[in-house]
Amino acid sequence: MTHLTLQAVTKRFHTAYAVDHVDLTVPDGKLVCFLGPSGCGKTTLLRIIAGLETPSSGTVAFAGRDLTHVPANQRDFGMVFQSLALFPHMTVAQNIAYPLRLRRVGNDAQAARVAELLELIQLPHMADRPVSRLSGGQRQRVAIARAIASSPKLLLLDEPLSALDAKLREAMQVEIRLLQQRLGITTIMVTHDQREAMTMADEIVVMEKGRIAQVGKPLDIYRNPVSEFVADFIGLGNILPVTFDGTDRIGLPGGQQIVVDAALRASGAAGDVRLLIRPEDVSMRAASANPGPNVLAGKVAFIRDVGSSLEATIDCAGFTLTAATTPRETPDLQVGMPIFAELPPHACKLIAARTAQ
Ligand code: ADP
Ligand code: MG
Repeated sequence: MTHLTLQAVTKRFHTAYAVDHVDLTVPDGKLVCFLGPSGCGKTTLLRIIAGLETPSSGTVAFAGRDLTHVPANQRDFGMVFQSLALFPHMTVAQNIAYPLRLRRVGNDAQAARVAELLELIQLPHMADRPVSRLSGGQRQRVAIARAIASSPKLLLLDEPLSALDAKLREAMQVEIRLLQQRLGITTIMVTHDQREAMTMADEIVVMEKGRIAQVGKPLDIYRNPVSEFVADFIGLGNILPVTFDGTDRIGLPGGQQIVVDAALRASGAAGDVRLLIRPEDVSMRAASANPGPNVLAGKVAFIRDVGSSLEATIDCAGFTLTAATTPRETPDLQVGMPIFAELPPHACKLIAARTAQ
């Protein structure tokens, strides 16, 4: 049992709670993402796990051992910061060997381990190059090699890809994920990018104002967000204020009514609720089709066609909807044309409205 376990971990800076009573278990060998907007406490929580910050209260345990007051350098965890913090004038090999030198690993063993890691990150020919002469993606890989050089039991990554441009960033997401799976190293990664979290994580911990808003597998959170905050933060969604009286009908902002499934009705408390429907679940039909239940009349207001996917904004009476499809499926869509948008009952989800603060 080598789980990382956090119990009621809290960090106050003066009177403000950066992390507020976080309970969490990180399973062995998995990649877990801390996801949330800037300032929600992701870095503080990661630094507490690393031992770089002491919690105001609560405990951090790993493999059954209480680490709360164990210094960072005795935790046996590897870490990559947002800034990477590589030593610019050292070579790639010297950077990777650094943690091994600190641990007084012998020269031969150091050289062997560095060679192994250079193979792993596919930079065997760059051993003697100063890191200042590497590309962004190469530096990234060196930082990860350095973090795992002494075979840490836990790898902690704080927005390690945030400095990279979009394309390289997406490539590195796949690369890091494959490496993590190959090594089976338990990893926690902080990110504010939901797409990155969904690409890489076994489990996502969504954070809001120092607290855990939801924990789950990426698709479970996407499909079944527990709150408006989570629904809004994970992916694109149509989130509409609706009236709900506990029957099978809900009232949309313009006054029209649609039907929702019984199971979904049960999950939404009567009162201040929102309707969530993901853009890919809204289907568009030509205006000539016969309207049925849950089919709303509207007008195409905007089309974002990026070749591989297409999003249409539809003006309905009293609200707008986004529908996502592919250009192939809707070849003759035009701005200004009348359209019917269908909201299938099984794809409509009622969620609690965000509480005002
Ligand atoms: P995130 O990484 O999610 O952006 P942080 O963990 O960096 O969030 O910060 C959470 C909150 O704690 C923020 O309000 C931030 O201003 C505050 N905070 C973080 N570190 C300190 C510190 N050393 N002193 C005072 N406030 C801090
Ligand atoms: Mg941060």
